Amino acid sequence: MSRYDAIVAGAGFSGAVMAERLASQLGWRVLVLEQRNHIAGNCHDQYDDAGILIHTYGPHIFHTRHAAVWNYLSQFTEWRRYEHRVLGEVDGELIPIPFNLTSLRRCFSAPQASRLEEKLVAAYGRDARVPILELRRSNDDDLKSLADFIYEKVFVNYTAKQWGCRPDEISADVSARVPVVVSEDDRYFQDPYQGIPVQGYSALIGRMLDQPGIDVALDTALRQRVTISAPDILLDGKPFAGSLIYTGMVDELFDYRLGELPYRSLQFRFETLDIPQFQPVATVNFPNAPGLTRITEFKQLTGQVSERTTIVREYPQAYDRHDETRNVPYYPVFTEENRQRYQRYADLVKTIPGLQCLGRLGEYRYLNMDDAVANALERFAALEVSR
Ligand SMILES: Cc1cc2nc3c(=O)[nH]c(=O)nc-3n(C[C@H](O)[C@H](O)[C@H](O)COP(=O)(O)OP(=O)(O)OC[C@H]3O[C@@H](n4cnc5c(N)ncnc54)[C@H](O)[C@@H]3O)c2cc1C
Repeated sequence: MSRYDAIVAGAGFSGAVMAERLASQLGWRVLVLEQRNHIAGNCHDQYDDAGILIHTYGPHIFHTRHAAVWNYLSQFTEWRRYEHRVLGEVDGELIPIPFNLTSLRRCFSAPQASRLEEKLVAAYGRDARVPILELRRSNDDDLKSLADFIYEKVFVNYTAKQWGCRPDEISADVSARVPVVVSEDDRYFQDPYQGIPVQGYSALIGRMLDQPGIDVALDTALRQRVTISAPDILLDGKPFAGSLIYTGMVDELFDYRLGELPYRSLQFRFETLDIPQFQPVATVNFPNAPGLTRITEFKQLTGQVSERTTIVREYPQAYDRHDETRNVPYYPVFTEENRQRYQRYADLVKTIPGLQCLGRLGEYRYLNMDDAVANALERFAALEVSR
């Protein structure tokens, strides 16, 4: 008999929630295997050489409308109150993103802006958030050309860089979600709970995993300790009768036997500058610059005080698991074809009793941090009920 009741592969939010719940609520002994040399998955943060707390895999801002998720995580951290604001560089001006009435005034002459504002308020009401696709369908020629302006200057090139496609390949579904805000509200997220963990995400997840009953093995990929030989699971070569919760890539788990699931990757270029502040807000988007999508200044997220500052520039790129400059899978490319391929993997998972795939990579879907936590809490509740 193994000394463990469960193995969790991956120490990001999804794996950490499961491990914490299993250990603290059910008294299970849990072995967490993490292939990287650190916990916290893509939310990992660390102090750089200049002593600035940076987010290793890109800027992470916590926001949620789920009180249950906020309360659950608040057991493990205090929060720095922070509401994210983004500016975008358009024709040499910095304008609020999403596009709002302040953006309107920065992009158009005063008489033009006030005429458009009146029309927006009359058509949709003050404080409305109008999907750009809806604005494009307006019967008013002025509003239609405003929609075209925003689409061209703010949205289309950014999205094409992000997903590595041509502007004309962007589906109407995606642009339908981009809002035009009929107010001066320049917050990027509207969720009631928003913040950054005071000591960072790695410390938060460290506290979740610091439970009696949880052992964490870093630098250990699942396959170094576990073999899946359907329908059996072996730990260190011996049959393992407990639960295996896997939060890595589901196609990798099955040696890509049904083909690869495509991802987008990112290149991050960090730079430390001998100035206290680099830009007016935490994130500036560059919709129309070649390659670059955005620059984030970490101190503005964390509130850290220092004479120096560290920024990160982001360049989306194709994912290639054989190339170490682009082998981190960040965003699932969620097309109908890929969804079907994922579904075939999900059917394979079902053939192995005791195996569950979870999270951003295990379920091949984009999850914000709060979704990842909510999703893992739900999965735990289902497991608890089925016992
Ligand atoms: C650039 C970027 C910015 C983001 N910004 C935000 C934001 O501002 N706000 C927000 O809410 N969300 C944001 N997210 C989403 C957030 O990163 C995810 O919600 C979160 O990482 C999901 O956690 P997870 O545990 O499912 O996956 P991950 O964090 O990816 O964790 C999976 C872990 O499993 C490990 N692993 C994989 N395979 C194996 C294996 N075979 N054996 C052992 N270990 C393995 C990995 O090393 C990793 O540590 C952002 C994502 C990206 C890419």
